[in-house]
Amino acid sequence: MPEEDMSRCIPEFPPLLGGLSLEALQEEAGSVFGLFPDLTIGYLNSGWFRFAAENDGEPAISERFGLGSYIGSAIAGEAKDFYLERFETALRSGQVWRHEYECSSEAVFRTFHQTVYPLAGQAGLVVVNSLVVERPHDAAERPPHPPLAGLYCNEHGLISQCSNCRRVHRRADPERWDWVPAWVASMPENITHTFCRTCFEYYFLRTVR
Ligand SMILES: [Zn+2]
Repeated sequence: MPEEDMSRCIPEFPPLLGGLSLEALQEEAGSVFGLFPDLTIGYLNSGWFRFAAENDGEPAISERFGLGSYIGSAIAGEAKDFYLERFETALRSGQVWRHEYECSSEAVFRTFHQTVYPLAGQAGLVVVNSLVVERPHDAAERPPHPPLAGLYCNEHGLISQCSNCRRVHRRADPERWDWVPAWVASMPENITHTFCRTCFEYYFLRTVR
């Protein structure tokens, strides 16, 4: 039985694809989104909605990443500037940008490969996210810690969480970032997003051209 087509699209987006076919994006197992030159969302494939549904991300994900919404509004903290800068560069230069990122849940460690394809004539971007690793968390590598506000809240009452690995900063030790699964399962309201040093060095410094 053919799979249900859950993709969503703004009609002006497919004509921008040039040599890329909408059917190919549709059949892509990973999640795919398309951006207009102003970085608003013009297309979401079925894989996008499948991933959101399988990870209990709905309806929050569709609200954050709705058709016509600006991609920058959906990204928090330092990661926002990082992604916007890279998307703009790919759009202007016509060069594909490839990188890896982590998108773990409370129970599962997951990394993805992201490929950002610029469309001809700076017409937009197609962003393909493919799963690389998916396995249960390794407690030896990332031991779980209980959600103790006193250990993690800074002097402003905020908890700093890494946008990439989602570990949180321990107040008394600037070098220490702990895995607190309860705050990955349910994000506290007083959370701010940044990058831990490891992710900063790996994701920022390594990919700067
Ligand atoms: Zn990190």
